Amino acid sequence: MKIAMIASEVVPFAKTGGLADVAGALPIALEDLGCEVVIIMPGYKCVKDISYSVVGKKIKVYFVENALYFNRDGLYMDKKGDYKDNLERFAFFCRKSLDLLKEINFSADILHLHDWQSSLVSVYLKNLYARQPFYSRMKSILTIHNIGYQGLFPGEDFPKLGLDKNLFNISGLEFYNRINLLKGGIIFSDLINTVSPTYALEIQEAKFGFGLEGLLKQRKKDLTGILNGLDYSIWDPGTDKFIARKFSKRNIEDKAYNKEELQRVCSLPVANEIPVLGIVSRLAEQKGFDILTESLPEICKTGAQLVILGTGNLKYHQILKKAAKKYPKTLSLNLKFDDPLAHKIYAGSDIFLMPSSYEPCGLGQIISLRYGTIPLVFKTGGLADTINEDNGFVFSSYTKDELVKAVKRSLAAFRDKKKWGSLIKNAMQCDFSWEASAKKYIQLYEKAKEK
Ligand code: ADP
Repeated sequence: MKIAMIASEVVPFAKTGGLADVAGALPIALEDLGCEVVIIMPGYKCVKDISYSVVGKKIKVYFVENALYFNRDGLYMDKKGDYKDNLERFAFFCRKSLDLLKEINFSADILHLHDWQSSLVSVYLKNLYARQPFYSRMKSILTIHNIGYQGLFPGEDFPKLGLDKNLFNISGLEFYNRINLLKGGIIFSDLINTVSPTYALEIQEAKFGFGLEGLLKQRKKDLTGILNGLDYSIWDPGTDKFIARKFSKRNIEDKAYNKEELQRVCSLPVANEIPVLGIVSRLAEQKGFDILTESLPEICKTGAQLVILGTGNLKYHQILKKAAKKYPKTLSLNLKFDDPLAHKIYAGSDIFLMPSSYEPCGLGQIISLRYGTIPLVFKTGGLADTINEDNGFVFSSYTKDELVKAVKRSLAAFRDKKKWGSLIKNAMQCDFSWEASAKKYIQLYEKAKEK
């Protein structure tokens, strides 16, 4: 099967979020399963120095060039906010991606699109290209990584897209007088998927759908969820070069050295019997920082230590800074992006807090499992699909009180050595490798081909 992966960011070339991880890892897993894959992405300034353009065994990566649109420091924005010409930039990218397929004579069975940035590929395919024999059999699949980002632009810019003006109405790309690119992708892609089965259901409800729930409900037969995989060559405590002592299921007692180092690096009292709660996260409301900051006084009184690594919303920077001053022996605050420290937190904590109010898939909880660090999560999206009471702690009503209760429950379990041992064993046995996800994507591609 021939797949064209068309994405606005791809690891290792450019990354702002989880979409880049998927667009980088999935092609390699698909190739291993026998698919022929090409990747198409914008030729940003940050990819100019990279001389190679082959990943996996022989997956070619094509960069769509445009000095005016892509030779910039940011992918989508700079310090002043979103680039004003993002509509033109990604419309250009989408059309060029389709043209490129013909130029390189890659007659893809499936065009796999990601989020609003490549949504227009399916719109152009169905409306402008489908009559050309080269494109007429191609099917498109749109993966929604986070429906909170839809690519919204002023309605008066619609002529810039070069599409029939009839498409700017309620059953087309119009969304409350604005252009909504993700909506276009949802309407014109043959199949749609999201990054977890629970999130695929949630976005059909008003609470999670950001206004697109009605449309998604109409297409629910074509909407599924496939969990993202984890790259275990990067996230494995048996080989991790950032941690003090490597460990695995067989020598789990060596995890204690990592806890000791974490406590030392974070200037917290060093003692194995004190439970350590870890957080590695963007500091955003989505990640649960509203109820978490409200819970801090109670959590800090439990006797546990709390290590937080993250950056983001300045409101939370301030609240957390205040709390760190108040609880210096309990709370270690690290307001930065720091990959080595993230590895140390996954390896050295006992419990990983991830109380996201919504979470399309989530990686933090999946990484923690492999490091024998027990996740504590709110029951939503990918968190609900990966964590249960056998490998973690789950609370199901999104309030400060329920969060505190779950933390206390986890601390009681920590003191019960037998129970804790079996939780760690179950956690480390979980397998969320890309191979399993890629097999599900191949089934989805087969389904699209039959449409
Ligand atoms: P999202 O993509 O919504 O931010 P995920 O849980 O899917 O959330 O992925 C977040 C990834 O980014 C994880 O691998 C996490 O370890 C990493 N990460 C988040 N914040 C930081 C930080 N401040 N320093 C290092 N790594 C971070």
